[in-house]
Amino acid sequence: MLKRLIRLLRHPASVVWVSLALAMAISAVAVWAAVEMQHDAMRRANETAQNVSLLIERDTARNLELYDLSLKAVIGGLHEPGVMKLAPQMRQRVLFDSSAMAQDLGSLFVIDVHGNVVADSRAVPPRRVNVSDRDYFKVHRDSPNVGLYVSRPFKPRLTAGDTSIALSRRLSNPDGSFAGIVVGTMRLAYFRRLFEGTNLGERGSITLMLTDGTVLMRRPLRAWMVGVNLAGSDNFNAFQGAPEGRFFAQSAIDGVDRWYVYRHIHGFPMILSVGQAIDDIDAEWRRRAWIIGVLTVLLDVAIVALAVLFSQQLRRRIAMEDRLRVLARTDGLTGINNRRAFDERANTEWRRARRSGRPLSALICDIDHFKTYNDRYGHAAGDDALTAVAGCIASYARRPGDSAARYGGEEFTVLLAETAERDAMRLAQQIRAAVEALKLRHAGNPRGVLTVSIGVAGTDEHTFGTLSELLEAADAALYRAKADGRNCVRQARALEAVSSMVPPTASETTPQLTTESAKETEGAASKVQQDPHTESLS
Ligand code: GH3
Ligand code: MG
Ligand code: MG
Repeated sequence: MLKRLIRLLRHPASVVWVSLALAMAISAVAVWAAVEMQHDAMRRANETAQNVSLLIERDTARNLELYDLSLKAVIGGLHEPGVMKLAPQMRQRVLFDSSAMAQDLGSLFVIDVHGNVVADSRAVPPRRVNVSDRDYFKVHRDSPNVGLYVSRPFKPRLTAGDTSIALSRRLSNPDGSFAGIVVGTMRLAYFRRLFEGTNLGERGSITLMLTDGTVLMRRPLRAWMVGVNLAGSDNFNAFQGAPEGRFFAQSAIDGVDRWYVYRHIHGFPMILSVGQAIDDIDAEWRRRAWIIGVLTVLLDVAIVALAVLFSQQLRRRIAMEDRLRVLARTDGLTGINNRRAFDERANTEWRRARRSGRPLSALICDIDHFKTYNDRYGHAAGDDALTAVAGCIASYARRPGDSAARYGGEEFTVLLAETAERDAMRLAQQIRAAVEALKLRHAGNPRGVLTVSIGVAGTDEHTFGTLSELLEAADAALYRAKADGRNCVRQARALEAVSSMVPPTASETTPQLTTESAKETEGAASKVQQDPHTESLS
């Protein structure tokens, strides 16, 4: 299983496929990293917005509480008997404590039922102004249960200062009737400075609103934004939904897509929203994702390109190895199988025949008077003749299991699997006749043309202990054919088969026939030639 997998991976196409899979895996990791970066950026943006909103909310609530305490202190003071009868200087000192005199906190006033200032934290005698048209005055006049009221933004009348809001509480007579108000102003610049200290990116926003939708302060600030009412906008509706929350939306003020974190200022009718622009959140991780993306693509291209190059080299090498393998098994001159190929094939077929019990026959062919052919027509012509004869012989090894080979010099073998000796004899006759029919002129041959002699042996007629014995028997038969005048086919004889078995051959490799053994065999063959049962089919 593992071997098959390794073999599959060594295939040139597999190399490319594996590299493509690797490139895809690397790309997948890069995409995963980019997604993680985006999530991280989003998490960080959310945390920042949460922290900023919490800090501003705490700071705002603490300051408003202090201011409210000042208002309450004034009310408390007014309830002290005789306070209003004190001299203005004394009364001012009793009523207005210095705690409310911090930067951005404006003046504290006591206003009578008509809207006139009766006590002023910053001036004795009080500055003369009427506030009966202000929302904070009307609200308290018309309702006894407002508690602390935070006004809409307005331009103070007494000072040409910044836009401010007023925090006010009602003064009531013992019978509950309206007795005026205590009001303190607070410059919106306080919030502007508070917001400016935050780092929310280029397009981040902070908006402080009243619960009726009136914008008190915003970052980034445009003059027209203060006092704008956002009531009815989708975002504002969402802000009203819960004491705090977060969501993604487009700004109703400037149309920028943001991640909003909002919270109601605890104890006060205000809502604070902190928005992180999606473009700001994305900018950083996108820059890194681009770099990773480009590097990943380059890496992928490099991997696949190298794999393609490697696969081409591998393909070339495999083709070369195949070619070498064929060359190693092919006879250089004639183009048919060589001795090495024959040995391998013959051993395989021998073992198969032994296992199956099916017959196996061998033919050994030798060109007649070839030495004289060479002498007469030259070595080059001899080579051509050899090639022609080889092609002719090989054309008869057609069935699977059959194989023809150049055995050496001008000798050829034909191995016939699952073929009885009689059938092999018939085929040998056909080969002999076919070579003769080539009509290759040979003046040194009594026939006038090139002929071959063939010896045949088959395992069905004789008992061979080894493959060598089978071939030796065929060789002995060949020499009988030579002795019988050439251009003929001879069948192995029992004596040849038996004699060739003593002494038995150790290995199953084919023997190299020597001249001596040939001569001996020829001698044996000539003796057997006298046997009247010997079949001569030539
Ligand atoms: P016989 O009929 O008894 O076989 O006679 P012969 O002349 O053919 O004798 P033998 O088989 O011993 O001769 C082999 C000759 O084959 C010797 C050599 O000149 C020739 N020969 C062997 N290999 C080649 C080859 O590759 N090319 C050529 N042109 N001749 C070869
Ligand atoms: Mg020979
Ligand atoms: Mg010969």
